[in-house]
Amino acid sequence: MQIADNRVVTLAYTLKDNDDNILDQSDDGSFCYLHGARNIIPGLENALAGKVAGDELSVSIPPEEAYGVRDEARIQAVPREMFPDDVEIEVGMQFHAQNPDGHALMVTVAKVEDDSVMVDGNHPLASVQLNFEVRVMDIRDATAEELEHGHVHGPHGHHHG
Ligand SMILES: [Zn+2]
Repeated sequence: MQIADNRVVTLAYTLKDNDDNILDQSDDGSFCYLHGARNIIPGLENALAGKVAGDELSVSIPPEEAYGVRDEARIQAVPREMFPDDVEIEVGMQFHAQNPDGHALMVTVAKVEDDSVMVDGNHPLASVQLNFEVRVMDIRDATAEELEHGHVHGPHGHHHG
């Protein structure tokens, strides 16, 4: 069976940046995704199409096909009073916020000043080249319910409360 749309794929992978730092790793068979449903970054999904179980590949994905390019306009000063009083705000903390369109986004605290906090709405992996070492562990057809939901169910997939 080949990797194709509407199939559930289990991968083992190691993700590194260009300086050989390991950013993420999964080698215990616990990572699976629904192919064709944009569950994973486009550059990796495209590289996996047509592969079979046991295949190993190295994929280097530019930011444009991963988490995008850093945009300095997404760094903004927010008044300190917008944050809860009882929380010590520190660089690196992440908060859920809304952009002007009302979309949810995650922001990271970049700098703390007396009366304002600089928050960065860029993805932490924006502008990072992603280098994956991937092994295809398993491929199966998705169930009708998985296709309807657009994600994987089961022991390592999405759990509904
Ligand atoms: Zn579901």
